[in-house]
Amino acid sequence: MVRTDGDALAGVARDFGRIVRGEPAGVARPRSEQEVAGLVRAAGAAGGRLTVRGAGHSFGGQSLPARSVVADMSGLAGACRLRPGPAAGAMIKGGGRHTT
Ligand SMILES: Cc1cc2nc3c(=O)[nH]c(=O)nc-3n(C[C@H](O)[C@H](O)[C@H](O)COP(=O)(O)OP(=O)(O)OC[C@H]3O[C@@H](n4cnc5c(N)ncnc54)[C@H](O)[C@@H]3O)c2cc1C
Repeated sequence: MVRTDGDALAGVARDFGRIVRGEPAGVARPRSEQEVAGLVRAAGAAGGRLTVRGAGHSFGGQSLPARSVVADMSGLAGACRLRPGPAAGAMIKGGGRHTT
């Protein structure tokens, strides 16, 4: 499910550095390999981009979106492997968060 409410968008509009502000179009928190695959497919079908976010600990806006949906990976407990075809694959790992 992609959330577009203000609270969800505000939570991913900044990274740890708080120097740059992103422009999230929505936020999804996939809980499984299947949900990650669904998000990638939906973004591709819509001709849009997907910004992957771990814990948002980047300093210079690397994890911030430019009018794209954010895939917040913090809900994934472990690594999962996507195999879109015989010659391609990607390793995706969920993020952990520092508390200060
Ligand atoms: C207090 C503190 C101390 C730090 N100390 C160190 C240090 O000692 N050494 C060091 O090297 N770094 C250090 N860092 C930097 C930090 O480790 C890196 O910025 C790291 O990448 C943050 O991981 P993240 O999951 O928060 O990524 P994010 O900030 O969420 O994302 C960083 C980049 O990785 C991409 N990304 C995130 N998750 C995924 C994924 N699952 N799949 C594909 N792409 C993804 C994002 O799109 C973005 O481009 C520190 C950061 C903090 C806040």
